[in-house]
Amino acid sequence: MIDSFTQIYGVFGNPVRHSKSPVIHNFAFQYYHINAVYLAFEPDGIGKSLEAMKALNIKGASITLPFKQSSMDYLDWIDEDAGAIGAVNTIVNKEGMLHGFNTDYKAAVEPLKPFGIQGKKVCIIGAGGAAQAVAYGIYKEKGRLAIINRNKKKGKTLAEKYKADFFSLDDTDSLLKIQPDILINTTPVGMSPNISDLSFPLEPLSPETLVMDIIYTPLKTRLLHGAQSKGCRIIDGLTMFLNQGAHQFKLWTGISPDIELMRKIMLKDEAL
Ligand code: NAP
Repeated sequence: MIDSFTQIYGVFGNPVRHSKSPVIHNFAFQYYHINAVYLAFEPDGIGKSLEAMKALNIKGASITLPFKQSSMDYLDWIDEDAGAIGAVNTIVNKEGMLHGFNTDYKAAVEPLKPFGIQGKKVCIIGAGGAAQAVAYGIYKEKGRLAIINRNKKKGKTLAEKYKADFFSLDDTDSLLKIQPDILINTTPVGMSPNISDLSFPLEPLSPETLVMDIIYTPLKTRLLHGAQSKGCRIIDGLTMFLNQGAHQFKLWTGISPDIELMRKIMLKDEAL
């Protein structure tokens, strides 16, 4: 029940109406009997929104595009990993002081850890915000990185940061040259409604490769369908999404939520 003690959390992004974060966090607040509500805010800029967080005692926030970097200028403290990545996706309001974290990098590497990351050749497609976090996580786990990106300058900059090889998306032989153990798509190519799009040819994929897509609409992208039909093991984007949300919830409440239960709730959501 919402009453005068209900605490407010939310996601700040623009656009943000497509976000599934309210679904998982409101479910978790109810499930764990926490008197809180999670809303979606779509401001033009982030500075005033973060001032409002303090003024209205909004307890915590998820930060999404396009504010993951710009929000850092308004925080009182930034955790070491978020600082190294250069992006924040979570804010905790600790007695009026805004603390920034990045849960995306942990969420990306955790599902890969059972297969082993250290010493493995990990190829990331994309060099945007999500790729920054994924690359940091893989580098921290001592994976051997290769970056493939459309914009060469951006791709090379990310590759240099993590001592990775860089390949242009135009180079159709790149996968044959890299022979990745793990391939991670961090581009929006294949995302709903453009579900038949694929950013690179799948022919060179070996059945030994573990393929992860961080897109979760649709749940099984064309990349994942194609990889599975070649015999590859696959990890869908909902896995990363739920993990990043679970880490946020833990930062806000101290509770590690049941991720499998959250997955069932998300799969009931007809938009997936
Ligand atoms: P971003 O900062 O805009 O970066 C997008 C990247 O994709 C860039 O490297 C861009 O290449 C590349 N790209 C975009 N369109 C392309 C195209 N048509 N062909 C080839 N490459 C293309 O976005 P982001 O924050 O990294 O997010 C990327 C995707 O990940 C989004 O779909 C987002 O919803 C998803 N995501 C999922 C999770 C999760 O928890 N599952 C978390 C974060 C993000 P250029 O550098 O050449 O422009």
